[in-house]
Amino acid sequence: MDAEAARPREIARSGAADVAIEWADGHHSVYPARTLRLACPCAECQDELTRRQLVDAAMVPEDVRPLGIDLVGSYAISVRWSDGHATGIYAFRSLREECPCEPCRKALGATIRARRSR
Ligand SMILES: [Zn+2]
Ligand SMILES: [Zn+2]
Repeated sequence: MDAEAARPREIARSGAADVAIEWADGHHSVYPARTLRLACPCAECQDELTRRQLVDAAMVPEDVRPLGIDLVGSYAISVRWSDGHATGIYAFRSLREECPCEPCRKALGATIRARRSR
């Protein structure tokens, strides 16, 4: 991934709760709020070594939404969630890697297959 691909041009809300990022290379990503909340990378929500999800999905409201999005340096955003959680720092690089759009999912699938066949 080049630097352009992991640099957002604009970060905005999409619909009632979702987060949309337009990247410097022109790609557009929309992250459903709850998916993003459950993917919170903080130590409380995710095991730092195994990346196993520790957050209990049952404890996260269906209608969870971001109350505020703040830039962290030039490499990440932090999100204040309506369920009170605010410790997650989402690196742009991981956000871009986890772009939920179909072309990105397919590209990622192809990368994983290529790695496996090596
Ligand atoms: Zn968290
Ligand atoms: Zn994408």
